[in-house]
Amino acid sequence: LPIVALVGRPNVGKSTLFNRLLRKSRAITHDMPGVTRDRIYGECQMNDVKFDLVDTGGMVLESEATPELSKDFEDEIFEQAREAIEEANAIIFVVDGKEGLTPLDQQAAEYVRRSGKPVMMLVNKVDGSEFSAAMTSDFHIMGLDLLPVSAAHGYNLSEVRKRVRQFVVELNLPEEVDDGIERGLRLTMLGRPNAGKSSIINAIIGQDRLIVSDVAGTTRDSIDVTFEKKNKRYTFVDTAGVRRRANIQDHLEKISVIRALKNSKRSDVTILTIDITLGVGRQDKRLIEFLAKEKTPFIVVVNKADLVPRNETNQALDAFRRELRIIPHVPIVMTSAQKGVGIGKLLPMAEAMRKECEIRIGTGILNRSLQAVLEKQQPPVVKRKRPKFFYVTQADEPIPTFVFFCNDHTLVKSAYARYLENQFRKMLGIKTAPVNVVFRSSH
Ligand code: GDP
Repeated sequence: LPIVALVGRPNVGKSTLFNRLLRKSRAITHDMPGVTRDRIYGECQMNDVKFDLVDTGGMVLESEATPELSKDFEDEIFEQAREAIEEANAIIFVVDGKEGLTPLDQQAAEYVRRSGKPVMMLVNKVDGSEFSAAMTSDFHIMGLDLLPVSAAHGYNLSEVRKRVRQFVVELNLPEEVDDGIERGLRLTMLGRPNAGKSSIINAIIGQDRLIVSDVAGTTRDSIDVTFEKKNKRYTFVDTAGVRRRANIQDHLEKISVIRALKNSKRSDVTILTIDITLGVGRQDKRLIEFLAKEKTPFIVVVNKADLVPRNETNQALDAFRRELRIIPHVPIVMTSAQKGVGIGKLLPMAEAMRKECEIRIGTGILNRSLQAVLEKQQPPVVKRKRPKFFYVTQADEPIPTFVFFCNDHTLVKSAYARYLENQFRKMLGIKTAPVNVVFRSSH
């Protein structure tokens, strides 16, 4: 899908706009009990046109920066914007009509212009047509197509949607074609440079036949590598991303979060590789947080095990387990790409994970399970009220998602939600895939 990035300095209202643009498109498929999650990356549908929208505003990642790495806040935003621009097919540049044109806007606009990518501009916080002329006048000198909007109050949103749709149509990007061939398992490799990602890919592919290695679709220099093993097809998504970042010095390197998320979304299973001698670094932590929050199916690979004495590996594993304690279902595999140890486990493990993601469970079984779980342990009383569960269904989502209908979803506390998740995992045999439990009030 085309990627459209929302770019602009902080506080211009990108996130509100992001939610506005996304929410309405979700309503199209709203007859299923769906799920809404906070996303910095989401699929938009406007009539017949689909694209991925990226909100750069939610991606200030350096807020907890340590002094030696700390950068100017503005610098950081700028870096995020730069990254978003690089990876997008088109840009929606957002400015604040209340504030007027600022130097930071101009700086960002300069970057946007240099990218040569199609840009449209939204002047946000224009709360009605009567303010439009005065509040947009500053921005005409930037020479971009502009449209006033109020993301918060809804002014001009339908016009904005129409124009955004047209904007995407005019990009005229080739559509991804489905050749009808079973596409097989798709994998994304993430991790810091030198963690051993390329070595692992090489070790996995080994002597097996490489069928395709082409420059695919919409993202510039994204190289998917497809190969066959034991008559099954596998693809490593965006190996260009794996290689390219490896050449950059570590302290200058930044894992491209947008790219990571995009690739993870395009694949079935993500593999996060960590160097055992370095442990879980800040970048790894962030990626783990993102993957957990996005409910991405993933495996943690602890590589270079050959560099640690055998009697210390268990201790190392415990440390990695601790890092993943909020998502205990995520498997950790110790490997040595160099010695070929542990590599053979990865594909079968990823396959099993995908199978679990594709599980579909009938309402009968789900509701019998729910009764059993409730009998074992009633939800605790909250504010003198006890949550009452009516029934549960599985939503049509890429990962197992169970929607519990109850008298009042605010009464269900996270400890009980965890209990339900764990019990359902056990009963349904979902060991490694992420599971989403959602609560809805109904009467
Ligand atoms: P990438 O940047 O994550 O793709 O990392 P590479 O696959 O290029 O590996 C970085 C360096 O680590 C190379 O010098 C590899 O030879 C080395 N390396 C990769 N895996 C292992 C391993 O399991 N053990 C040891 N000792 N070295 C490894």
